[in-house]
Amino acid sequence: MRTECPHSLTMHDAHNHLQHIRFDGIRDQVITDMRTTGVTRCVVNGTCPDDWKKVADLARRHPDLIIPSFGLHPWKKPTTDWFEQLVGYLDTTPNACIGECGLDRWMEDFDVDLQEDIFLKHLKLATERNLPLSIHCLKAWGHLVEILESHPLPERGFLLHSYGGSKELVPRLAKLGAYFSFSGYFLHEKKHKVREAFAVVPADRLLIETDAPDMLPPKEAITHPLPENLNHPANVAAIHQTASAFLDVSEVDANCMEFFTL
Ligand SMILES: [Zn+2]
Repeated sequence: MRTECPHSLTMHDAHNHLQHIRFDGIRDQVITDMRTTGVTRCVVNGTCPDDWKKVADLARRHPDLIIPSFGLHPWKKPTTDWFEQLVGYLDTTPNACIGECGLDRWMEDFDVDLQEDIFLKHLKLATERNLPLSIHCLKAWGHLVEILESHPLPERGFLLHSYGGSKELVPRLAKLGAYFSFSGYFLHEKKHKVREAFAVVPADRLLIETDAPDMLPPKEAITHPLPENLNHPANVAAIHQTASAFLDVSEVDANCMEFFTL
């Protein structure tokens, strides 16, 4: 059954970082707030071997709420054994997904070859195991499309989290199996170009995310203010509601369930 927010039976945050050190000390309260607000599932993305254990522990404590995901983010330095550790977490954590990983030409001193090598390892694993893959891409869309069009891809598709590519690329990526998640940050007035791109995302490929604790939405979508401008994952309900003014969000929760259910 699909109903509209805020009274829907399910409410998903397709991408956050609940394990982040900035939630230390308030995490239990944040989780309680999420449940009270009606958040039923969220995908918690690890970004490096240092935080993967925290992600796995959170999922073990809240198996009904948290879908764990493990990846090496392009901002993080690879350790010598990161890949073996990643495989270990995938093998031992129920419902484990892959990500956040990807390509980034926005950061300083990026190393294209290293990023490609690391991303391809994630992509190959996701394809072999047909696991949900959450992809980060900043200013590297041409490179990403080139990789996606020339490699085997997971049968279930893949998620482009906080999609910031062009409107023109949307159909090409959708054809490859892309899902696109809309971040609350895109509700800021200055992100109008991104909203134009989301206007052409098919309703059956659209998801919604907070990327908490980062990417604070504008104040009309903040129901749960936190100190130091942290973004609270329970804001996802207000993001959903605000986005419904210009996007067809009727399928976002079903899409999230379908994509992330193993
Ligand atoms: Zn993220």
